[in-house]
Amino acid sequence: MSLAGFRFDAVELPPAALALREEVRDFLAQHRDRLRPMHGGFDRDFSRKVAAKGWLGMTWPKQYGGHERSSLERYVMIEEMLAHGAPVTAHWVADRQSGPNILKFGTEEQKQFFLPRIAAGELAFAIGMSEPNSGSDLAGTRTRAVAVQGGYLVNGTKLWTSNAHLADYMILFCRMSEAGKDEVDRHSGATQFLVDMKSPGIEVRPVINMLGEHHFNEIFLTDLFVPEDRVLGKVGDGWQQVMSELAFERSAPDRFLVLFKLLADMVRMGGEDPDPSAATATGRLITHLLTLRRMSLSIAGMVQAGQQPNVEAAIVKDLGTRYEQEIPEVARLVFNAEPDLSAADAYVAMLSRGLMNAPRLSIQGGTREILRGIIARGLGLR
Ligand SMILES: Cc1cc2nc3c(=O)[nH]c(=O)nc-3n(C[C@H](O)[C@H](O)[C@H](O)COP(=O)(O)OP(=O)(O)OC[C@H]3O[C@@H](n4cnc5c(N)ncnc54)[C@H](O)[C@@H]3O)c2cc1C
Repeated sequence: MSLAGFRFDAVELPPAALALREEVRDFLAQHRDRLRPMHGGFDRDFSRKVAAKGWLGMTWPKQYGGHERSSLERYVMIEEMLAHGAPVTAHWVADRQSGPNILKFGTEEQKQFFLPRIAAGELAFAIGMSEPNSGSDLAGTRTRAVAVQGGYLVNGTKLWTSNAHLADYMILFCRMSEAGKDEVDRHSGATQFLVDMKSPGIEVRPVINMLGEHHFNEIFLTDLFVPEDRVLGKVGDGWQQVMSELAFERSAPDRFLVLFKLLADMVRMGGEDPDPSAATATGRLITHLLTLRRMSLSIAGMVQAGQQPNVEAAIVKDLGTRYEQEIPEVARLVFNAEPDLSAADAYVAMLSRGLMNAPRLSIQGGTREILRGIIARGLGLR
């Protein structure tokens, strides 16, 4: 399928990817007790086990601890992990975006230090982009780094930083000038830093989400010293780098598989001979899933071919989150269940969790409105 500005070509999975799917399923069956759909647990031991299978840094060069396998094999591995609710959080950000960002922009020393550790499941990363008054408008970042002897001093506040309280490192997005002053344009001077979360000057405070759980944080940076050799890429190139990092974040299949177990349970609830309205509603969701999967696989094929499918990734994320937000709504109406997080009934408990989870899906990794702006630009409409 091709429209002005984007393409979605059909991609067939190669035999190596099909064989890998069986291997991942066997592995997950051996760790059945750790699987918790929709929870995305932070489990370093599980991450090390995934690494030992060669499934972290899968596409990276062997010289940096990677395995030089294809993007389509990685796709299949991720798909199985998500569909089964594997506890992938401890390695997710590092494997999906921090590692690829370091591979693309890092110095030789940074690649040699960070990548083998990430591929071994030893390092968890956080994303230090959003701030109290700058989420969508990342160019409005106020956290500022100032050059000092041997490095930089950073002051500012970051917000919504997932798992910062558990992470070893954070890729921190800063500006070098005072907001609104000394700037050629709003993107100039932006810089990314690889920050050791144990450094003095970092205070991480929890932000509790609607489920009463601690994933987010607010981070106060007070005279945080970052050594010169922990600048990622070039000082002033942070804007281009962060756009490339967001493309890694948006192109993964985790944009429509978070609530997969709830859809599978709807099929189970319908039984052998489902009520026609339940069959129609569930069937509609399944056809959406199949279409999204084909589109997402097409993106993996483009990544494999060395392309940067940013607009296609924005489309899949926008459509994928719309589809996922529909699942708990349909699940509630079709089987007439009242949400109750503490319900003994597994279906009701999962449905309730799905409902509480749904709003975040169209906010994290770029809001719906921002993605539609990117798509409009891709179509030449803006
Ligand atoms: C589960 C979750 C995890 C997250 N994890 C992280 C993380 O680890 N690290 C991190 O840095 N951030 C993280 N975030 C933050 C996330 O990136 C921001 O919440 C998001 O970018 C939106 O920014 P904001 O909250 O400041 O809202 P705003 O940018 O203030 O947006 C508010 C509303 O205004 C709309 N809007 C804003 N600008 C425009 C525009 N130009 N045109 C049209 N509409 C517009 C938005 O679409 C939205 O509906 C996370 C968020 C969630 C929900």
